[in-house]
Amino acid sequence: MKNFLDKILTHDVSIVLLVALSFFGVFKYIEYRMSFISEQINKIEVDKNELTKKVINLEGIIRGTESNIKGEQEKNNSLANQFNEITNTVGALSKLSKTDPELLKKYSKVYFLNEHYVPISLTEVGPDYRSLKSNNYKVHSNIVPYLDKMIDAGKAENVSVLVQSAYRSFAEQAALKSNYKVIYGAGTANRFSADQGYSEHQLGTAIDFTTLKTNGALEGFDKTPEYKWLVDNAYKYGFVISYPAGNTYYKYEPWHWRYVGVALATKLHEDKINFYDMDQRLIDNYLANIFD
Ligand SMILES: [Zn+2]
Repeated sequence: MKNFLDKILTHDVSIVLLVALSFFGVFKYIEYRMSFISEQINKIEVDKNELTKKVINLEGIIRGTESNIKGEQEKNNSLANQFNEITNTVGALSKLSKTDPELLKKYSKVYFLNEHYVPISLTEVGPDYRSLKSNNYKVHSNIVPYLDKMIDAGKAENVSVLVQSAYRSFAEQAALKSNYKVIYGAGTANRFSADQGYSEHQLGTAIDFTTLKTNGALEGFDKTPEYKWLVDNAYKYGFVISYPAGNTYYKYEPWHWRYVGVALATKLHEDKINFYDMDQRLIDNYLANIFD
Protein backbone atom coordinates (compact mmCIF):
# COMPACT_ATOMS: atom_id res chain seq x y z
CA MET A 1 0.00 0.00 0.00
CA LYS A 2 2.77 2.31 0.99
CA ASN A 3 4.55 1.44 -2.22
CA PHE A 4 1.46 2.13 -4.16
CA LEU A 5 1.04 5.56 -2.50
CA ASP A 6 4.70 6.33 -3.07
CA LYS A 7 4.28 5.40 -6.71
CA ILE A 8 1.26 7.67 -7.13
CA LEU A 9 2.94 10.53 -5.27
CA THR A 10 6.17 10.15 -7.23
CA HIS A 11 4.12 10.02 -10.41
CA ASP A 12 2.17 13.15 -9.47
CA VAL A 13 5.28 15.04 -8.43
CA SER A 14 6.77 14.11 -11.72
CA ILE A 15 3.74 15.51 -13.56
CA VAL A 16 3.80 18.69 -11.50
CA LEU A 17 7.50 19.07 -12.17
CA LEU A 18 6.96 18.41 -15.85
CA VAL A 19 4.13 20.93 -16.04
CA ALA A 20 6.18 23.48 -14.08
CA LEU A 21 9.11 22.93 -16.40
CA SER A 22 6.87 23.34 -19.44
CA PHE A 23 5.41 26.60 -18.10
CA PHE A 24 8.88 27.86 -17.33
CA GLY A 25 10.01 26.99 -20.85
CA VAL A 26 7.01 28.72 -22.45
CA PHE A 27 7.50 31.74 -20.19
CA LYS A 28 11.17 31.97 -21.13
CA TYR A 29 10.30 31.66 -24.81
CA ILE A 30 7.68 34.41 -24.54
CA GLU A 31 10.16 36.58 -22.65
CA TYR A 32 12.74 35.97 -25.37
CA ARG A 33 10.23 36.83 -28.13
CA MET A 34 9.13 39.95 -26.26
CA SER A 35 12.65 41.24 -25.94
CA PHE A 36 13.27 40.44 -29.65
CA ILE A 37 10.13 42.35 -30.67
CA SER A 38 11.00 45.27 -28.41
CA GLU A 39 14.51 45.32 -29.97
CA GLN A 40 12.91 45.39 -33.44
CA ILE A 41 10.61 48.25 -32.38
CA ASN A 42 13.61 50.21 -31.11
CA LYS A 43 15.40 49.62 -34.41
CA ILE A 44 12.36 50.81 -36.37
CA GLU A 45 12.18 53.86 -34.09
CA VAL A 46 15.83 54.67 -34.87
CA ASP A 47 15.24 54.14 -38.61
CA LYS A 48 12.15 56.37 -38.43
CA ASN A 49 14.13 59.17 -36.77
CA GLU A 50 16.86 58.88 -39.37
CA LEU A 51 14.30 58.93 -42.16
CA THR A 52 12.63 61.99 -40.64
CA LYS A 53 16.03 63.72 -40.54
CA LYS A 54 16.64 62.80 -44.18
CA VAL A 55 13.19 64.09 -45.19
CA ILE A 56 13.86 67.40 -43.39
CA ASN A 57 17.21 67.59 -45.11
CA LEU A 58 15.64 66.89 -48.51
CA GLU A 59 12.97 69.52 -47.90
CA GLY A 60 15.74 72.02 -47.21
CA ILE A 61 17.49 71.07 -50.45
CA ILE A 62 14.21 71.37 -52.40
CA ARG A 63 13.55 74.81 -50.90
CA GLY A 64 17.09 75.87 -51.76
CA THR A 65 16.69 74.62 -55.31
CA GLU A 66 13.35 76.38 -55.66
CA SER A 67 14.81 79.67 -54.51
CA ASN A 68 17.76 79.16 -56.89
CA ILE A 69 15.33 78.54 -59.76
CA LYS A 70 13.38 81.64 -58.73
CA GLY A 71 16.61 83.62 -58.61
CA GLU A 72 17.55 82.39 -62.08
CA GLN A 73 14.08 83.19 -63.39
CA GLU A 74 14.34 86.70 -61.94
CA LYS A 75 17.75 87.11 -63.57
CA ASN A 76 16.30 85.89 -66.88
CA ASN A 77 13.34 88.25 -66.57
CA SER A 78 15.62 91.16 -65.82
CA LEU A 79 17.79 90.24 -68.82
CA ALA A 80 14.69 89.95 -71.00
CA ASN A 81 13.54 93.38 -69.78
CA GLN A 82 16.94 94.88 -70.51
CA PHE A 83 16.86 93.25 -73.95
CA ASN A 84 13.38 94.70 -74.62
CA GLU A 85 14.51 98.12 -73.45
CA ILE A 86 17.52 97.99 -75.75
CA THR A 87 15.33 96.80 -78.65
CA ASN A 88 12.88 99.63 -77.99
CA THR A 89 15.68 102.18 -77.77
CA VAL A 90 17.21 100.89 -81.01
CA GLY A 91 13.75 100.98 -82.63
CA ALA A 92 13.14 104.56 -81.44
CA LEU A 93 16.62 105.65 -82.56
CA SER A 94 16.22 104.05 -85.96
CA LYS A 95 12.78 105.70 -86.31
CA LEU A 96 14.27 109.01 -85.19
CA SER A 97 17.14 108.71 -87.66
CA LYS A 98 14.57 108.25 -90.44
CA THR A 99 12.42 111.20 -89.29
CA ASP A 100 13.08 114.64 -90.70
CA PRO A 101 14.16 116.74 -87.67
CA GLU A 102 12.85 119.93 -89.34
CA LEU A 103 9.25 118.73 -88.94
CA LEU A 104 9.03 119.89 -85.32
CA LYS A 105 11.19 123.02 -85.46
CA LYS A 106 9.78 126.51 -84.98
CA TYR A 107 9.84 128.66 -88.10
CA SER A 108 8.96 132.27 -87.61
CA LYS A 109 11.93 134.10 -86.21
CA VAL A 110 14.17 131.51 -84.63
CA TYR A 111 14.93 128.87 -87.27
CA PHE A 112 14.85 128.95 -91.01
CA LEU A 113 14.96 126.48 -93.85
CA ASN A 114 17.45 126.88 -96.66
CA GLU A 115 16.49 127.18 -100.31
CA HIS A 116 17.34 123.52 -100.97
CA TYR A 117 15.04 122.11 -98.29
CA VAL A 118 12.21 120.06 -99.75
CA PRO A 119 10.00 117.51 -97.95
CA ILE A 120 11.02 113.89 -98.47
CA SER A 121 7.79 113.17 -100.37
CA LEU A 122 4.79 115.25 -101.44
CA THR A 123 1.27 114.13 -102.31
CA GLU A 124 -1.49 116.09 -103.98
CA VAL A 125 -4.53 116.89 -101.81
CA GLY A 126 -7.63 115.11 -103.14
CA PRO A 127 -10.12 117.31 -105.11
CA ASP A 128 -12.82 116.86 -102.45
CA TYR A 129 -10.51 118.26 -99.79
CA ARG A 130 -9.47 121.54 -101.44
CA SER A 131 -11.25 124.83 -101.92
CA LEU A 132 -10.29 125.28 -105.55
CA LYS A 133 -10.62 122.07 -107.53
CA SER A 134 -8.18 123.49 -110.11
CA ASN A 135 -5.32 124.10 -107.66
CA ASN A 136 -3.15 121.06 -107.05
CA TYR A 137 -2.11 121.70 -103.45
CA LYS A 138 0.51 119.32 -102.18
CA VAL A 139 1.31 118.18 -98.64
CA HIS A 140 3.91 115.98 -96.95
CA SER A 141 2.86 112.45 -97.98
CA ASN A 142 2.83 111.12 -94.41
CA ILE A 143 0.16 113.57 -93.23
CA VAL A 144 -2.36 112.70 -95.97
CA PRO A 145 -4.21 110.02 -93.92
CA TYR A 146 -4.51 112.40 -90.94
CA LEU A 147 -5.66 115.31 -93.09
CA ASP A 148 -8.26 113.24 -94.97
CA LYS A 149 -9.57 111.66 -91.77
CA MET A 150 -9.91 115.09 -90.11
CA ILE A 151 -11.77 116.64 -93.06
CA ASP A 152 -14.04 113.56 -93.31
CA ALA A 153 -14.79 113.73 -89.56
CA GLY A 154 -15.77 117.40 -89.99
CA LYS A 155 -18.02 116.55 -92.95
CA ALA A 156 -19.77 113.91 -90.83
CA GLU A 157 -20.63 116.75 -88.41
CA ASN A 158 -21.75 119.12 -91.20
CA VAL A 159 -18.53 121.11 -91.04
CA SER A 160 -16.75 121.71 -94.32
CA VAL A 161 -13.05 122.39 -93.77
CA LEU A 162 -11.13 122.76 -97.05
CA VAL A 163 -7.46 123.21 -97.96
CA GLN A 164 -6.72 126.70 -99.27
CA SER A 165 -2.93 126.52 -99.31
CA ALA A 166 -0.40 123.83 -98.46
CA TYR A 167 3.22 123.19 -99.45
CA ARG A 168 5.10 126.17 -100.82
CA SER A 169 8.70 125.83 -101.98
CA PHE A 170 11.37 128.36 -101.02
CA ALA A 171 11.08 129.89 -104.53
CA GLU A 172 7.26 129.99 -104.42
CA GLN A 173 7.35 131.71 -101.03
CA ALA A 174 9.91 134.21 -102.37
CA ALA A 175 7.74 134.95 -105.42
CA LEU A 176 4.61 135.25 -103.24
CA LYS A 177 6.35 137.61 -100.84
CA SER A 178 7.74 139.90 -103.57
CA ASN A 179 4.31 139.91 -105.19
CA TYR A 180 2.75 141.02 -101.87
CA LYS A 181 5.44 143.69 -101.49
CA VAL A 182 4.51 145.09 -104.93
CA ILE A 183 0.81 145.08 -104.11
CA TYR A 184 0.86 146.14 -100.42
CA GLY A 185 4.31 147.65 -99.90
CA ALA A 186 7.09 145.95 -97.90
CA GLY A 187 5.86 147.17 -94.51
CA THR A 188 2.36 145.77 -94.87
CA ALA A 189 3.54 142.57 -96.62
CA ASN A 190 5.96 141.80 -93.77
CA ARG A 191 3.07 141.89 -91.33
CA PHE A 192 1.20 138.97 -92.90
CA SER A 193 3.65 137.08 -95.09
CA ALA A 194 6.76 135.26 -93.96
CA ASP A 195 10.05 135.67 -95.78
CA GLN A 196 11.19 132.70 -97.80
CA GLY A 197 12.81 130.14 -95.50
CA TYR A 198 10.82 131.28 -92.47
CA SER A 199 7.52 129.83 -93.62
CA GLU A 200 6.13 126.63 -92.18
CA HIS A 201 4.60 126.00 -95.59
CA GLN A 202 8.00 124.90 -96.91
CA LEU A 203 7.73 121.83 -94.59
CA GLY A 204 4.67 120.45 -96.38
CA THR A 205 3.01 119.92 -93.00
CA ALA A 206 1.40 123.39 -92.67
CA ILE A 207 -2.00 124.04 -94.22
CA ASP A 208 -4.22 127.09 -94.57
CA PHE A 209 -7.86 126.06 -94.18
CA THR A 210 -10.92 127.80 -95.41
CA THR A 211 -14.58 127.02 -96.01
CA LEU A 212 -17.06 127.81 -98.76
CA LYS A 213 -18.96 129.85 -96.11
CA THR A 214 -16.32 132.59 -96.57
CA ASN A 215 -16.20 131.91 -100.32
CA GLY A 216 -12.76 130.41 -99.82
CA ALA A 217 -11.33 133.52 -98.16
CA LEU A 218 -8.96 133.30 -95.19
CA GLU A 219 -10.14 136.50 -93.54
CA GLY A 220 -13.15 135.88 -91.34
CA PHE A 221 -12.37 132.16 -91.04
CA ASP A 222 -12.33 132.44 -87.23
CA LYS A 223 -16.02 133.47 -87.28
CA THR A 224 -17.06 130.19 -88.92
CA PRO A 225 -18.20 126.91 -87.31
CA GLU A 226 -15.31 125.28 -89.23
CA TYR A 227 -12.74 127.22 -87.19
CA LYS A 228 -14.55 126.40 -83.93
CA TRP A 229 -14.64 122.74 -84.94
CA LEU A 230 -10.87 122.74 -85.67
CA VAL A 231 -10.15 124.32 -82.27
CA ASP A 232 -12.08 121.49 -80.58
CA ASN A 233 -11.06 118.57 -82.78
CA ALA A 234 -7.93 119.15 -84.91
CA TYR A 235 -5.59 117.85 -82.18
CA LYS A 236 -7.14 114.38 -82.53
CA TYR A 237 -5.65 114.26 -86.03
CA GLY A 238 -2.29 115.79 -85.06
CA PHE A 239 -2.95 119.41 -86.11
CA VAL A 240 -2.40 122.55 -84.03
CA ILE A 241 -2.90 126.23 -84.78
CA SER A 242 0.54 127.79 -85.20
CA TYR A 243 -0.22 131.45 -84.52
CA PRO A 244 -3.30 131.78 -82.28
CA ALA A 245 -4.74 135.09 -81.09
CA GLY A 246 -2.39 136.93 -78.74
CA ASN A 247 0.75 134.94 -79.68
CA THR A 248 4.05 136.82 -79.53
CA TYR A 249 5.68 135.13 -82.53
CA TYR A 250 3.62 136.12 -85.50
CA LYS A 251 0.36 137.74 -86.41
CA TYR A 252 -2.88 135.91 -85.60
CA GLU A 253 -3.62 133.35 -88.31
CA PRO A 254 -6.77 131.34 -87.48
CA TRP A 255 -6.59 129.53 -90.83
CA HIS A 256 -2.97 128.35 -90.52
CA TRP A 257 -2.60 124.88 -88.93
CA ARG A 258 0.39 122.63 -88.73
CA TYR A 259 0.70 118.87 -88.36
CA VAL A 260 2.83 118.00 -85.29
CA GLY A 261 1.60 114.44 -84.60
CA VAL A 262 -1.30 113.22 -82.48
CA ALA A 263 0.71 112.78 -79.24
CA LEU A 264 2.17 116.31 -79.22
CA ALA A 265 -1.06 117.95 -80.46
CA THR A 266 -3.00 116.17 -77.69
CA LYS A 267 -0.44 117.24 -75.07
CA LEU A 268 -0.63 120.89 -76.24
CA HIS A 269 -4.45 120.76 -76.30
CA GLU A 270 -4.70 119.25 -72.81
CA ASP A 271 -2.15 121.61 -71.27
CA LYS A 272 -3.63 124.59 -73.19
CA ILE A 273 -0.24 125.74 -74.48
CA ASN A 274 0.82 126.89 -77.92
CA PHE A 275 3.35 124.98 -79.99
CA TYR A 276 5.59 128.06 -80.15
CA ASP A 277 5.48 128.49 -76.37
CA MET A 278 6.77 124.97 -75.67
CA ASP A 279 10.46 124.38 -75.10
CA GLN A 280 12.10 123.03 -78.28
CA ARG A 281 13.84 120.29 -76.26
CA LEU A 282 10.46 119.03 -75.00
CA ILE A 283 8.97 119.25 -78.50
CA ASP A 284 11.85 117.14 -79.88
CA ASN A 285 10.82 114.23 -77.62
CA TYR A 286 7.78 113.77 -79.87
CA LEU A 287 9.70 113.65 -83.17
CA ALA A 288 10.24 109.87 -83.36
CA ASN A 289 6.50 109.20 -83.04
CA ILE A 290 5.22 112.09 -85.15
CA PHE A 291 3.52 109.77 -87.67
CA ASP A 292 2.22 107.15 -85.15
ZN1 LIG B 1 -0.24 129.65 -93.75
